[in-house]
Parts: sequence; C-alpha cells; structure tokens
Amino acid sequence: MGYEFDVAILGGGPGGYVAAIKAAQRGLKTALIEKGSLGGTCLNVGCIPTKALLASAAAYTSAKAARDFGVTVEGVAFDFAKIMARKARIVKQLRGGVEYLMKKNAVTVLAGAGTLTGAHSLGVAGEAERDITAGAIILASGSVPARPPIPGIAGANVVTSDEILFWDAVPPTLAVIGAGAIGLEFAYFFNALGSTVTVLEALPQVLPAEDAQLAAELATSLTRQGIAVQTGATVLEIGDADGKKSVRFQPAGAEEAQRVSADVVLVATGRWPYTHGCGYEAQGIPIAHRAVTVDAYLHTGVAQIYAIGDLIGGMLLAHKASAEAAVAVDNITGARRAMHYHAIPTALYCCPEVASVGLSEAAAAEQGIEVATGSFPFRPLGKALAIGEREGFVKVVSRKTDGVMLGVQAIGPHVTDMIAAATMAVQHGLTAEQYARTIHPHPTLSECFHEAIEAALGHPVHM
Ligand code: NAD
Repeated sequence: MGYEFDVAILGGGPGGYVAAIKAAQRGLKTALIEKGSLGGTCLNVGCIPTKALLASAAAYTSAKAARDFGVTVEGVAFDFAKIMARKARIVKQLRGGVEYLMKKNAVTVLAGAGTLTGAHSLGVAGEAERDITAGAIILASGSVPARPPIPGIAGANVVTSDEILFWDAVPPTLAVIGAGAIGLEFAYFFNALGSTVTVLEALPQVLPAEDAQLAAELATSLTRQGIAVQTGATVLEIGDADGKKSVRFQPAGAEEAQRVSADVVLVATGRWPYTHGCGYEAQGIPIAHRAVTVDAYLHTGVAQIYAIGDLIGGMLLAHKASAEAAVAVDNITGARRAMHYHAIPTALYCCPEVASVGLSEAAAAEQGIEVATGSFPFRPLGKALAIGEREGFVKVVSRKTDGVMLGVQAIGPHVTDMIAAATMAVQHGLTAEQYARTIHPHPTLSECFHEAIEAALGHPVHM
C-alpha cells in the first residue's frame, strides 16, 4: 500500500526536527507536525532563552567586577526589558533557522496538533487541518513542566519555567521549588539581578543526580553568592500571607514545618512527558509512568512507530533527543542500531558551570565496579588565574582493572563546553593513560581535565 509520506514525525523539538532533517537527507518524503513553534521546548522555552538570560546576568556580574581587572566602569546597571528583548531576538533568529532548514530539506511542515489515528495515519487539527498517512512514524511530542499536587500550586504568582521566562520584572523575592537544572539556573539568574532567592530541595543535595562532592561545591558557591539553599526541604503547601506567597515546607529531621515568603514561586520539580490528546493509548502505544516505552532500538512495538526525546523519559536533554532521532531514522531505513546511554553529557549553565558524563564514583560503587578517582582544582592553573575564574574542580572516575574511563564530573569555568572531550573518551572507552598522553594546549582551562586524569593515575604535575 502506498503512503502519502515515507515518514511522519509528531513534534518539532530537537528530537523531531532533527529526525525530519535526517530522514529527508536519506531521500525520504517527510512530514513534521508541530502545534506550537518549531524548535520545541529547547529553542522556545528552554535551553536557548535561558542561556541568553544567563549571558546577560554574567555580563552584568562581570561589569561589576571589572575593577578586579584594572578596568573602571561607572554606573553599571541593567535594563530588564532589554535583557528579555535580547532573549526574544535570539530565539526568533534560531527559530527562523530551523524553518529555513525545513524548507531546504523539503520537509512538509504541518502546523497543528497531531493525533495518532492508526498504525500508519495521523490527523492534524489546526492551521493545517488534514489527515495523512505514512510508512513510518516517529513520536516526539516532548514534555511539559510538572505540576505536582502541592496544595496552592494553581494560585497566582506560582509559575513554571514556561511563564517566568516571560516575566516583566525582577521579583524582589523568589522562592524556587526544586534544585535541579531549571531551579538552579533561574535562582542564579534572578539572584544575580538582585532578587532575594530561596531554593527548597526535598532531597539531601542540590542536583540530586550528580556527584555529591560536585553538588556540595555548587551549593557552597551559590550560598556565597547570596542564595539561600535549603536541602532536605519538602514543600507541603503554597498559600498567601501579607500580600505575598507563603511556602510551607518540612525540613528533614525537624518537628515543625517552616515557611518562606516570596513575591513569586517558581515550581521546578521536573517535567512530564507530553501525551495528552495525542491518541497514543488508543493505538496501543505502551505508556508507563507517563512516558512512552520503547526497546533499545526506540521502537514502540507497534507497526513502524518509534518514539524519541523527552516523551520516552530518561535524561530530558535536547542532545539526547537529537541522538535518538538519528538512531530512529537509521532503524527506519533498515539498520538495527541500539541507542546507548552511557555517555550522555549533562550541563548546567549557572556560575560556576557544572558538567558531567558517565558514571560518578557513587554510581560505579552501586554497580559494584571498583574504580580509581582523581581530581584537580582550577585554582592553581595559570589560565584560571589570568581570567579570574578560580572556582571548581574536575573529577575523573576510571575502572581499576583496566583504566577505562567511566565518568568525568566538572564544576568551574566553561566546563559545559569542555565536557565534549571527556564525552568522547567515555563514549569510546579510552583509558586514563590514553587520555593522559593526549597533549592539552597551555595555558587553557582544559588542563584541569588533564591534571585530574594524571591525579587518577597517581602523578599530577602541578599539585
Ligand atoms: P529535575 O528533575 O532535574 O529537578 C527537580 C527537583 O525538584 C528534584 O531535585 C526534586 O527532588 C525536587 N522536588 C520535587 N518535588 C519537590 C518538593 N515538593 N519540594 C522540594 N523539592 C522538590 O527537574 P527540573 O530542574 O525541573 O528540570 C526538568 C528537566 O529538564 C530535567 O530532566 C533537566 O535535566 C532538564 N533540563 C536541563 C537543563 C540543562 O541541561 N542545563 C536545563 C533545564 C532543564
């Protein structure tokens, strides 16, 4: 039977639009259905706009610290409306770029809400109202901010990242629920611009999925910057008192609940896969804990239907979604390629930055793997001193038996950019010895990774 399209993709985020390009590059007739804006969460209300805002906060902070570099800057100030306008311009420009890529690759973009109506069919409601058929389908409908059942969460001035990204002023006081990536990036941003910020995290450390030493260093730094970081603090209720929000939370081990008052409450307690109204259940697509379940080949088990990105859970990261897009398209075009998750880098863009890849020391211990670890601080490095960025360290985890690098964790200047080299090593099973023999340019911050590996091997040079 002939289908109108070879591949149809539901959702135009970094999973869906990358899948569309990859499919089109293989000569497949491709349709991409998107109900909002191309680029999805990442480009429109996630990675990109937050990075633009954080860059403004960093510029403001640097200008204030200019005298440390012998530079006199008078009257340092910021214009919040201009910061937001710059963010909007960057998003618009990149969105235009994705639209251009769709045209260039001859992808048919259907603007509207897609519903899976059969094993090879989808309905589109909205601007491009129509039904289509496709030989293969990739579900990439992403995720939405989680709204856990905390009493008062629906009240005024209780927002998620979707809303605070469009706020029109710096709230004088801000309470952030959740110390994951979203909570900490906004906490850093608003604190840098003068807001009084409290972060409430239910688990014992910030960034609960990361190495404990890294999380402790980050918490110390954020506290030093003026952010009140409360770990072991489970939020119970959000109410109103004296014209402000009043957040009631239970500190771990304490008898009495406590309260923090704020003008705005940001709920950053995770994201939920988006399946609402997509017709997945009716077509037998398996769903568990809100997420579509797939096998190692990203196949849903139904006809030629694959699923990728935030929709299938795991690490909710744009680059994970894009990597899955490539795997799904390979499998649709006849390959049998499994998706591997052992070397997906994470990145947090507050100051100091945090990045990691692979196993932490604790995760390796949980798996019963004996490891050697080494760490090295940025402080003694010439480049770190020259640029006035002395916070943080790099930690390396390698397997004791054969020296294979299992993970790298880093906190400090530009670590989100530098984690790529460590990712290459972990992805391809380089040994610490091989990494150590790789010549790193001097003077650079990348030397910190080199020194940490030398430390894991027992012979750091500059320590
Ligand atoms: P998250 O799951 O990373 O963190 C949410 C935090 O909220 C957890 O630490 C959790 O313990 C805490 N929490 C939950 N309920 C609570 C309660 N009642 N009281 C106090 N604390 C509570 O989620 P997120 O930060 O919202 O981010 C969502 C997803 O988006 C994540 O997967 C994240 O990795 C991804 N993301 C990544 C980046 C980045 O890579 N820079 C940026 C933003 C988002």
